[in-house]
Amino acid sequence: MGTIATMNRRNFLNLSVLSPFVASNLFGLDGLVETDDLFVAKEDIFIQKEDWETFLKLRNRLRRLKRYIGFGNFNIVSVNSALFYARNYSQIGKFTQKELILFEELFYEDPAKYGFYGEKTCFNINTKISKKDVKKIPYTGHYLFRGTPLNDYTRLRRDIGKTITLTSGVRGVIKQMSLYLDKIYKTKGNISLASHSIAPPAYTYHSISDFDVGRKGWGYKNFTASFARTEEFRKLRKLNYIDMRYTINNKDGVRYEPWHVKVI
Ligand SMILES: [Zn+2]
Repeated sequence: MGTIATMNRRNFLNLSVLSPFVASNLFGLDGLVETDDLFVAKEDIFIQKEDWETFLKLRNRLRRLKRYIGFGNFNIVSVNSALFYARNYSQIGKFTQKELILFEELFYEDPAKYGFYGEKTCFNINTKISKKDVKKIPYTGHYLFRGTPLNDYTRLRRDIGKTITLTSGVRGVIKQMSLYLDKIYKTKGNISLASHSIAPPAYTYHSISDFDVGRKGWGYKNFTASFARTEEFRKLRKLNYIDMRYTINNKDGVRYEPWHVKVI
């Protein structure tokens, strides 16, 4: 199903230059490219060669930051706090000027050129998430915004059962950037391909309301189309107080994401 969505997006971009080839040939043997990302179009945009080293440094610095402040805090840490930690703790190390420029570019760029057509959700790179606006959900390492998102989650667990759990909640700019860089890394620098399976940093609904759910103990499988075949998903679809954000062939150019709950 994801493949169909991918192809439609590519077709939409420009049928004449569509040049699909199998990712395993292109990307070698690391096996990290997901099955729904099998096609690369000629017009796909990659991280510039001269930026690659900076890209790797930035990605690694964010990983060190995560290790230092912890997974939970990393979900909601602001850019300013990240800069503070990096400056003051040698385990992380100060961001270089080049890293900050790349960070800003990736944040403020219009992702339509990558084939991503979703709405902008975060307009300022310095957006802060206040701890009093969120609640940490026990045993998940994730947060939810108080109000409708938290109420929806509580309610859906009552309706579906304790086998459904939060797999990703509130994400600040740093967290989404880190996920974005990880995805770009997996696609060997192909930003267009990456933004098909992860929203660019300023375009995620995780920064304002939405969250991901999965079946307890299912790990990474919760982020694959397999989730759509679970009992939990079947029950999820019956609930009228939430919706699915990224349906098959959605207009945002995002892959099918049955696990991503749209807060309405
Ligand atoms: Zn999501």
